[in-house]
Amino acid sequence: MRQSRSLVGALALLAVAGCATPRGSAETAGAEPGLAIRNVRIFDGERVIPEGTVVVRGGKIVAVGADVSPPEGAEILDGQGQTLLPGLVDAHFHADGPDAYRASLALGITTVIDMFAELSAGAARLSVAELPRRGVDEADSIMGLLITSPGGHGTEYPGVTVLTASTPQECEKAVDAAVAAGSRYIKLVYDAGETVLPKTIPTLDREVLVACIQAAHAHNRLAVVHALPGQRAHEAVEAGADGLAHCITDTMPETALVRRMAERKVFLIPTLAVAFSVAHQGHVEVLKADPLLGPYLTPSSLRLMAVQFPPEFGAGLRPDVMRQSTRMMLEAGVPVLAGSDAGNPGVAAGATLHYELEMLVSAGLTPVQALAAATALPARAFQLADRGRIAPGLRADLVLVRGDPTVDVRQTRDILAVWKEGRRLDRDAWRARLEATRSSK
Ligand SMILES: [Zn+2]
Repeated sequence: MRQSRSLVGALALLAVAGCATPRGSAETAGAEPGLAIRNVRIFDGERVIPEGTVVVRGGKIVAVGADVSPPEGAEILDGQGQTLLPGLVDAHFHADGPDAYRASLALGITTVIDMFAELSAGAARLSVAELPRRGVDEADSIMGLLITSPGGHGTEYPGVTVLTASTPQECEKAVDAAVAAGSRYIKLVYDAGETVLPKTIPTLDREVLVACIQAAHAHNRLAVVHALPGQRAHEAVEAGADGLAHCITDTMPETALVRRMAERKVFLIPTLAVAFSVAHQGHVEVLKADPLLGPYLTPSSLRLMAVQFPPEFGAGLRPDVMRQSTRMMLEAGVPVLAGSDAGNPGVAAGATLHYELEMLVSAGLTPVQALAAATALPARAFQLADRGRIAPGLRADLVLVRGDPTVDVRQTRDILAVWKEGRRLDRDAWRARLEATRSSK
């Protein structure tokens, strides 16, 4: 315990030393007055403090609570009628263009879990190695690489190199290569497209999947599996998967599967918004018409939103089952995480995550559970100990919204301010830039 606390202290000092603010040196950090947001409702990632104060200094949260007083000299923000949330985490993301990380941060998403970084790198025109180093006005990227079967899901994107494996030995090599490239976790495709595609495609064999998961674990990496049919999801969890990248789409899950996931804390990222898009129940018009989201859609997002999944896709998807199975998992104690699957047709980086929260509530999560699904739970699931909650010592990744999203989750869209590591984003400048791009066309 003591050791970890001193480590946190050392990291805080390092962060302060590296901070670009004029007063951001290690020597003066103690004297820096910082920022205090007071009289504000606080959702700390797990619970609600009806009214309190949060103090930020040197890019970190230094105090939180109902009885915290703003330090002398601190800049004061009065948060009456407003709610302060931890920076949101999109647990299933692909960049839909070079501005995807900026678009995410502008809508309060301070971290994205890049679920197939080669695809994001291609869209953002970056090398994979560049992905984790996001700028101060962009969401952080937690990058993972995908391993699939030759000809399997993931190989259909032109110009994107993908790791493939046909044997357990090839799997070990592919995992080695992914880890060497900086993959923070491993995504595996165990799905022949049964519920989505008009005809099936190759996928990893069961024994190859097992070998891939074991190889990921041998490297101390999580194994997150794309397995939409209930039977495949079951087999993936049996094989040791740490998380499912999507909800089950065709049948209600067996009780044994739900129990095992709950016991082992195997997480579920339902990605309902994109699944409903595949089932031709998309949300494009909702996002475009929303005055709080529409102006923040990037040209790349708008281009991809104009595309629809082909009409022959999604015949095996059952929207009622997707909602119900998500709810069943939640009620059993499975960690449910919010993910947009941005990068797909009909989905927008940033905006869709807010719609996903509404979808999760429609599936049976309370607004507080939906907020936890986009903050503390994904941070815990992906072992990001420095974020996801409003607690002393953590990064000052924060979103201030009007109203009370713990009652009406759609209030996450009514954003007043976003801070990443204590630095407030200039949302107005970004919005103006997007407007200028639109009117110049
Ligand atoms: Zn995806």
